[in-house]
Amino acid sequence: MKKLCVSLILSSMIFPATIRAFGRLEVICGPMFAGKSEEFMRRLRRADIANLKMLIFKPILDTRADDEITSHNGARMKAIPLADPQEILNFPDLAAYDVIAIDEAQFFSTDIVPVIRTLIAMGKRVIIAGLDLDYRSEPFGPMPQILALADSITKLQAICVMCGQDACRSQRIINGNPARYDDPLIMIGAEESYQPRCKKCYSILS
Ligand code: ZN
Repeated sequence: MKKLCVSLILSSMIFPATIRAFGRLEVICGPMFAGKSEEFMRRLRRADIANLKMLIFKPILDTRADDEITSHNGARMKAIPLADPQEILNFPDLAAYDVIAIDEAQFFSTDIVPVIRTLIAMGKRVIIAGLDLDYRSEPFGPMPQILALADSITKLQAICVMCGQDACRSQRIINGNPARYDDPLIMIGAEESYQPRCKKCYSILS
């Protein structure tokens, strides 16, 4: 009994409360159509049932006043559009929230990385969803740094539209053909679409 008391005292000295109060980072990644938003919203619904206070953010992609995140199965949740991730740290009464969730994180600059570090240091549970690779199969925006900081990573796969195997690539199609490596991100007047494909069926023109 005496030995147990000593070890308890020692562990409280070695692991002070300030360190135990740190938060965690969960990342959900994968190609388009892999169910990332569905998994993201599933975790948020569970956090809501647990009475955790949460904030959901997404990047502003264009001029639309879009304040929702949606999954391909039709589920929707309200989200706060952000131009600059720094706005998260200025959010009123941020200290009162337990969970900070950020969708489509690949579209932010690497300015999001120190914001995430601060949120973790504040003890938040941070949940991030984003594309790990762009249509060229290159790491997308700040995702490599975010993945390096993660406590847990869920890497989802879609189904390849060509062969039915697991798909880990987002194939960009422009006017019916695979995109070129150096195509601009936005092509005026082009008909553009994306398909989930496996590595074997994915192609990019050089
Ligand atoms: Zn395939």
